[in-house]
Parts: sequence; C-alpha cells; structure tokens
Amino acid sequence: MEFRDLKRQYAKYKTEIDAAVQQVMLDSNFISGKQVAELEEMLAAFTGRKYCIACANGTDALQLALMALGVGENDAVFVPDFTFFSTAEVVPLCNATPVFVDIEEDTFNMNPDALEEAIERVLQEGKLQPRVMIPVDLFGLPADFTRLETIAKKYGLAVVEDAAQGFGGNIRGKRACSFGEISTTSFFPAKPLGCYGDGGAVFTDSTEIAEYLRSLRVHGKGQDKYDNIRIGMNSRLDTMQAAILKVKLAAFAQEELDSVNTNARLYTQLLKDVVKTPVIPEGFYSSWAQYSILLKDKQQRDGLMNDLKEHHIPSMIYYKKPLHKQEAFADCDCTGIDLRVTESVCDRILSLPMHPYLEKQEIEEVAALIRRYIEKLQ
Ligand SMILES: *Cc1c(COP(=O)(O)O)cnc(C)c1O
Repeated sequence: MEFRDLKRQYAKYKTEIDAAVQQVMLDSNFISGKQVAELEEMLAAFTGRKYCIACANGTDALQLALMALGVGENDAVFVPDFTFFSTAEVVPLCNATPVFVDIEEDTFNMNPDALEEAIERVLQEGKLQPRVMIPVDLFGLPADFTRLETIAKKYGLAVVEDAAQGFGGNIRGKRACSFGEISTTSFFPAKPLGCYGDGGAVFTDSTEIAEYLRSLRVHGKGQDKYDNIRIGMNSRLDTMQAAILKVKLAAFAQEELDSVNTNARLYTQLLKDVVKTPVIPEGFYSSWAQYSILLKDKQQRDGLMNDLKEHHIPSMIYYKKPLHKQEAFADCDCTGIDLRVTESVCDRILSLPMHPYLEKQEIEEVAALIRRYIEKLQ
C-alpha cells in the first residue's frame, strides 16, 4: 500500500496526460505557453476568484503574497504554530517577524481566541505592527474564516489564506483559495491537486494586486521582462505542469474530491470509537490532504506507527515539531506564550494512507490493524 498512490492516478489518466505533455513538446512553448493562462482561468473559475496567478511553488506563492501586501521590517505576521515550515519561512524572507499562534485540537487549525490574544500581546509590547495573518487550511480543512476575518477587521490586519493543502475544500460552498485579500496554493505532487514537479498559484479579487503579482513573478517587469520597474522574482509555472494540471483539475473536480470524502467517512466510521478521528465542523468540507488521527500519548502513537510498518502500512507524522521549536526560529522569543495544544498534538498525531484511489478493502485493513493494536493495549 502507498501513502499517497500517484501511480494509480496516472494509470487512470495516462492517455490524456501523455497527450497534453506531448503537445507542449510539439509546440515547444515551455515557458508561458497558452496552457498556463488557460489553467489560470480554470482555477479562478473553480475557486470563485477573479484572478489566479500561477507561480513556481507554494512557498513562492506565499512570499509573493507578502511582497504584494508590502510586508516588511517591524511587521508582525501571525501564523499557526502547527503547519509546514513554509508558512512561517516566508515571513523573515520579507524582513518581518512571525508570531506563532496555537491551534484547536479538533480541527488542527488556527485558534481564533489564541490569535486575538497574540495580537493584543504584540500591541501591548509596542515593538511590532500587527499587519497580516496567514491561516492555513491544514490537512484540507478550511480555517475558521468567519471568525478570523472578524478579528482581521477589528485590528486592521490583512488575511492571506495558505491553501497549499486546502484546495478543493469549502465553507458553506465558498471555496478554499477565495478567502482573505490573497490566497495561495501549492501543486506539489502530494497535495490535493498536484502536478508532476513543483508548482503553485496566488489568488485575489483585486485588479491592482493581480497586476502587481504578475509583475513580481517575472523579475518585477513593467512593459516586458526587460523593462524592470521593481525587484521581483523568477517564479513561473512552466507550460508542461500547466498542461498536466488542466487534465488533473478536471479529474479532481469530477471524481477525486468525492472519492476522498467517501474514503474519509469510511475511516471515521471504522475508527471513531477507538481513536480521536478528525472533526469537520458543520458547513465545512475538506479536501483531505491528510487523514490524521490522535492517539492518547506519544508512546501509543509511536507504537502504532511501528506496528503498522511491520504490516507494511505506511503512515506519517505531520508534524513532529511545533514551528516555535524549529532551530531556524530559535531567536523568536516564545516564553510565556501558550502553545500547548500544538505541543501535545505533535506528540499524538498520525496520518494514515489517504488518496482518491484507495480501495475499500485497503481502508478496512488499515482500520482493522489500528483497532487490534489499540484493543490489545486495553
Ligand atoms: C506544501 C505546503 C507549502 C509549500 O508548498 P511548496 O509548493 O512545497 O513550496 C506551504 N504551506 C503549506 C501548509 C504546505 O503544506
């Protein structure tokens, strides 16, 4: 069994993907071919955003977003303590300071109460200006944007949605990548919508921001890339990846989103009385980048992981370490800040094999092994 079986997906769409890739080679329009703009249009339509600006990866997408908002020195950027490194990495890259916020145990997403406390603390200290929050749609579940956007308004913060894992999710029909001033996503192969290499995109409804982003991704171009009116990046999605994504987006929208939700429901039904299964709040819809369970403690989690491995079932720990404990952030002063939920979740979480092409028997096999392991301990 594979943790995320990309080979099964390719086998199913091989004819279309091969043809799409071949066309790029026949046209030899490897950079900025027409497929890129076509994909951008499809992605904007799917997410309900006015503009989509494709770029080289999800980390660049976040950096471009912060650059477009003019984030810089003395700015505080609020990020969840429990996420992939990129969400916070781009903040010092823009010379600003990340402020880590604890999560909710049920959803693994940024806790709005903890966010408000963190903003108040920064205001009281008076050293940094609260500027931006970057809520993450962790494991495919949109963050609580209704509450987060209220806090953003109250304190005058911009919202950047990190939907690298969230593409395909929604809150009462409003899709991931449509929240906040700017949203970002990643097409890293293992994400809900993945390409065959690195890729990413930035979304916005603002015409000015969209124009600015298009300039930033090509060396701060003005009239063309040899007219440079600001310092930018080289961050484009190449034509080959766009061509592949056009095929995969159709499959994602028509079938894969449904399949992962069916798979998640089956896991939950089989496991909910033995471990803590993911909570999807009323009105929320996940794209299940991961299906993650919580065990009693670290010993039980590590024991289960080993037991699954012995039965050739892969599982992963997302994430072993809170961001505030990463060496790269050693100089961030987090003393006295309550990040206990993240710390506890890092010790107890385990992500199970999850993708649209998992078969019912495979889910039943994984669930049976987990049940047997937990019941043996009792
Ligand atoms: C994967 C990921 C990113 C970065 O995406 P890349 O395409 O790998 O650069 C950013 N944020 C989160 C939450 C992610 O999971």
